[in-house]
Amino acid sequence: MTSPHANIPGIDRLLRDPAAMTLMSQYGRLAVVDALREAVTTVRQDLLTKGSVETDSRLRIINLADASLAQAHAPSLVAVFNLTGTVLHTNLGRAVLPAEAIAAIANVAAEPSNLEYDRVSGKRGDRDSHLERWLVRLTGAEAATVVNNNAAAVMLVLNTFAKRREVLVSRGELVEIGGSFRIPDVMQAAGAVLREVGTTNRVHLRDYADNVTTRTALIMKVHPSNYRIEGFTAGVQETALAALAKEKAIPFVIDLGSGTLIEFGSLGLPPEPSVQATLASGADLITFSGDKLLGGPQAGIIVGRRELIERLKKNAMIRALRVDKLTIAALEAVLRLYADPTRARTRIPTLRLLTRPLADISALAQALLPAVRTALHAIAQVETIACLSQIGSGALPVDVLPSMGLALRPVANVVRGDAAADLSLRLRELPRPVIGRIHQGAIILDLRCLEDPAAFLEQLRFIRAPSAISA
Ligand SMILES: *Cc1c(COP(=O)(O)O)cnc(C)c1O
Repeated sequence: MTSPHANIPGIDRLLRDPAAMTLMSQYGRLAVVDALREAVTTVRQDLLTKGSVETDSRLRIINLADASLAQAHAPSLVAVFNLTGTVLHTNLGRAVLPAEAIAAIANVAAEPSNLEYDRVSGKRGDRDSHLERWLVRLTGAEAATVVNNNAAAVMLVLNTFAKRREVLVSRGELVEIGGSFRIPDVMQAAGAVLREVGTTNRVHLRDYADNVTTRTALIMKVHPSNYRIEGFTAGVQETALAALAKEKAIPFVIDLGSGTLIEFGSLGLPPEPSVQATLASGADLITFSGDKLLGGPQAGIIVGRRELIERLKKNAMIRALRVDKLTIAALEAVLRLYADPTRARTRIPTLRLLTRPLADISALAQALLPAVRTALHAIAQVETIACLSQIGSGALPVDVLPSMGLALRPVANVVRGDAAADLSLRLRELPRPVIGRIHQGAIILDLRCLEDPAAFLEQLRFIRAPSAISA
């Protein structure tokens, strides 16, 4: 009797196979050798357990290796369809960049650049220079610097001005954003001492004034990004806090969180204080995110008085918090779009999606309906549905935007168990995952953020049949 192993070719022979050579050009020799070894082991074990002799194991081995290489080398970070209805979805990467920013990134990624090089003097330059001129022009600030994200910006400000000293913050503003950013914790990590003033719902100017001592380093106001206190409330106007800070000769800092450069009211969106207006109310420094309402790359932007910005830039921490050239390229391109607010509104995806007319989204829903019904005919009943989008990233938490979506109701009796959860999983498993939300047994796909319906329909062709989940 022939040994079951007799027909298994050796690795050396397999490597000379044209199909294996193609794999090598794609994945490299080392990875292919490993994958072939693994496949040989699998095939050998199969032969042993089945006790049979396969005539040509070669093809099976190569196919197994190909599949395992494809799986192991599939990118982990992939594009998805954000049909959750949350425009700035932190878990889905927040702001989508405008084409101008993507082109700018590609350009400096592929070539050396004048990142820190003064073209006139031929000497070392300042990486902030590319962004500062735009930030100064757009916000009216004296100076600006940019760090990794807004959490880093707040940390840098506190560490620079309030190390081992006190910072006055209203009790109603001790926010937590997404679990990892909490004002009291950031304060501690920066080495500053938090001095809470007022109560949860009410704070008065005298609460601040009474707590200013020789240990006070800063007065800080934090935008209550993701919640709103309503009812019997009182806050202190920025102008009043600015005057108090000036009288006591301490800086007044505002963490604006989101931070927009366009008056949101003028876009037909819920009002949100702009950076310019906040600066004009007397803040000495303002920190805000690059990838929230601004619609740019992840970054923390600090604008304000030149003398204070200079001190921030002398902090040794800045080296650890600075942004890389790709971020600078993207942010410069986004800021340049803000020079013309109309252009900003149409070119920057965040603004374009937030201001997308309901009639537009409804028309898209109607247009997609027949094709989606066809694609999912054995899988789900599909209807259009009115829904509400959210801005997201803690911006304007209470305000919602009327929108339109598709409701997918799994066809009864196809799956046992939670049919909606199963369908939702199959949508997430698509090569370009489709992310919606489940509501009352249906999957709601909010179409506000869908700008490429053809690509979406293309994906639905790959949906796999329902898995038989037992109840
Ligand atoms: C979002 C937010 C932050 C954190 O900003 P990141 O850019 O996510 O680091 C800090 N403060 C406030 C008020 C925020 O809304």
